[in-house]
Amino acid sequence: MGRRLSSDRTGRWQRTLSRRLAELQSELEENQRRVTQLENTLKAVTRQTNDISIGGPCSCGESFLIVRQRVIYCPQCEYQRTM
Ligand SMILES: [Zn+2]
Repeated sequence: MGRRLSSDRTGRWQRTLSRRLAELQSELEENQRRVTQLENTLKAVTRQTNDISIGGPCSCGESFLIVRQRVIYCPQCEYQRTM
């Protein structure tokens, strides 16, 4: 028995929602671009640095693992392991 939303109010809500979606989409595209830029930079840096390579993501979720002189470590948490 609640009051029905007027079509005007519904239209305004839909416009707000689609504007928000468009904002989120452009934020997402910007973030994807940044990730690609960072990956390319990281690849170039590790190529030029003979004793460092990048492993998979650390279980802490904050960083990829760094492999250096047979030691695997995370720069963000305490994780460290010798190969
Ligand atoms: Zn970690």
